[in-house]
Amino acid sequence: MKKLNRRDFIKYGSGTVAAGAVTLGAPNIALGSTKKVVVVGGGAGGAIAAKYIKRADSSIDVTLIETNKEYYTCFMSNEVLGGDRDISTIRHGYEGLKKHGINVVHAKATGVDHDSKKVVTDAGDSFGYDRLVLSPGVSLKYGVIEGYDEAAAEAMPHAWKAGPQTGLLRKQLVEMKDGGTVIIAPPGNPFRCPPGPYERACQIAHYLKHNKPKSKILVIDAKDKFSKQGLFMQGWKACYDGMIDWVPAADTGGGVTSVNAAEMTVSTDFDDIQGDVINIIPPQHAGHIAHVAGVTDDSGWCPVNLGTFESKIHAGVYVIGDASAAKGMPKSGYAANSQGKVCATAIVASLNDIEMTAPSYVNTCYSLIAPDYGISVAAVYRLAEDHSKIAKVAGGLTPGDASKEALQREVQYAYSWYDNIVADMFT
Ligand SMILES: Cc1cc2nc3c(=O)[nH]c(=O)nc-3n(C[C@H](O)[C@H](O)[C@H](O)COP(=O)(O)OP(=O)(O)OC[C@H]3O[C@@H](n4cnc5c(N)ncnc54)[C@H](O)[C@@H]3O)c2cc1C
Repeated sequence: MKKLNRRDFIKYGSGTVAAGAVTLGAPNIALGSTKKVVVVGGGAGGAIAAKYIKRADSSIDVTLIETNKEYYTCFMSNEVLGGDRDISTIRHGYEGLKKHGINVVHAKATGVDHDSKKVVTDAGDSFGYDRLVLSPGVSLKYGVIEGYDEAAAEAMPHAWKAGPQTGLLRKQLVEMKDGGTVIIAPPGNPFRCPPGPYERACQIAHYLKHNKPKSKILVIDAKDKFSKQGLFMQGWKACYDGMIDWVPAADTGGGVTSVNAAEMTVSTDFDDIQGDVINIIPPQHAGHIAHVAGVTDDSGWCPVNLGTFESKIHAGVYVIGDASAAKGMPKSGYAANSQGKVCATAIVASLNDIEMTAPSYVNTCYSLIAPDYGISVAAVYRLAEDHSKIAKVAGGLTPGDASKEALQREVQYAYSWYDNIVADMFT
């Protein structure tokens, strides 16, 4: 059987894993598949890992297990709340991945048997693997905020997993009276998409400014500072002066501690506050299946070898995306994409007995403050020499004195970024 040779592999793996632009040939398809990879979770990380493993070595039998037939990107879901984007534009299907020869199975993975190397699903099927990738995203920690459970999330949507929850929060905003109060309660670190709650405040303010201008937004934070804070606050002043009130943890004794969904109130150590629309973003940890598979530690996230994303707890199991403890990188879709490529490279290397090349990683995160006002943060990373973290080696932030035209261009870059990342995932 002809294996992927080292020169081909280096072309694929070294320095290109972040950009992901290189496609290799099909080494040994005629001889049939011998190695099996199962990927659980067809989101920002898992879709990419599945596709890039198959692209690098088409002889590998790749199965993607994903609960939902349609994936709603969280990226751009805040724009749905702002009313400038229809939810159908963030919905994507799995036909494109099937065309790559990936066996897409719509079921929920319910267990992992490490001894027999099998994943079982709620449909009663089991899938054997030589390597397993878990990219299940986050699970919401219900109950940490007293009274905030799945039922309460129907009255006070989190909208931190895009889809029906996004639609529900949008509906509540549309139905709210002019002069109402919208409460957003962001969690402490670490959590999915550090700038997300503050972009959400902008998008909701954009909607209210043009439709319900007497309304207010109260952001009751569990933190004292947040991602891109200076740029966000500048944007709030420029676009929504006086509409968004951000309350740091220090002023409330740590943010929202309990909710009463029937009364539509949130409580801090000092106060009970009434809201007309309440968006609770609860604390998070790795997606449930990662806990079931035993690859989480006391932090609730998954410790991994940062050069390959192989679990430090179970060899042969890889964890990417939000669920991984990828020290140095934020929990973002683009980070998950980059990690998916590093992980794909590492798996193809290990299945072909080729040495893993030095990985590189990338992340850019755009935030839409208004239709003509965008900001971004970007970074390129390398593995630290002692492998203790993914170290930033270059990067940048929108300058505080950026021109109007530059801020407008950031919005167009954000849309272009979106088109590229979903094309990478689903076509
Ligand atoms: C409001 C908001 C805005 C955001 N904006 C941006 C942005 O602008 N840029 C950016 O880079 N990131 C953004 N993000 C973050 C981004 O969405 C996540 O970081 C990213 O989706 C993480 O990818 P993942 O693969 O870890 O998880 P996901 O993309 O959530 O994928 C996990 C998948 O696994 C499936 N799954 C889970 N458990 C199982 C199981 N047991 N069996 C089968 N399937 C399972 C789920 O159905 C899901 O499809 C945003 C997030 C939010 C909430």
